[in-house]
Amino acid sequence: MWNVFYPHFLINNVAELTPERLRELDVENLLLDVDCTLKQYENQEPEPEIREWLKKIKSAGFKFCLLSNGVGKRIGKFAELIGAPYIAKACKPFPKGCRRAIAEFHFDPAKTVLVGDQIFADIMAGRLVGIRTILTKPISPEQEHWFTRIKRPFEKIVLRSFKQRFPDGIWLASEE
Ligand SMILES: [Mg+2]
Repeated sequence: MWNVFYPHFLINNVAELTPERLRELDVENLLLDVDCTLKQYENQEPEPEIREWLKKIKSAGFKFCLLSNGVGKRIGKFAELIGAPYIAKACKPFPKGCRRAIAEFHFDPAKTVLVGDQIFADIMAGRLVGIRTILTKPISPEQEHWFTRIKRPFEKIVLRSFKQRFPDGIWLASEE
């Protein structure tokens, strides 16, 4: 039951997911959360390091789609800026938006990973669909809305238990 809260892997920043690393992990497609994963909450542009990373994974042939709970207009503008398809109002932690992205872009679920900064939205959504999930540290936690901030202490509890059980992450044991 706890597994639904557990990411398969932890990173500090999406830029750690180099093309080499993604290939090692047998990942071809990425569903990417937007706020606090690719950009600061109040900023409408990606962080420079992340813009570079997006270019790099795109030219290396990886496919990605933005998957955000944000409203279409705002997320659409961001998607246009980085030249990516998107699904807004994804209703994470519910699996609806995630399922839609996989179906719409013909992603192989076994080779798709969801990357986001919130356990009780991103990780749960990916887990409920049965794909692998990566939790990144939020880029700008100080800018988050209160409804995100109140969830953070609970995330810390989950993460502590995750790290005790799986000190090296659980990529290979994802289906156990
Ligand atoms: Mg986020």
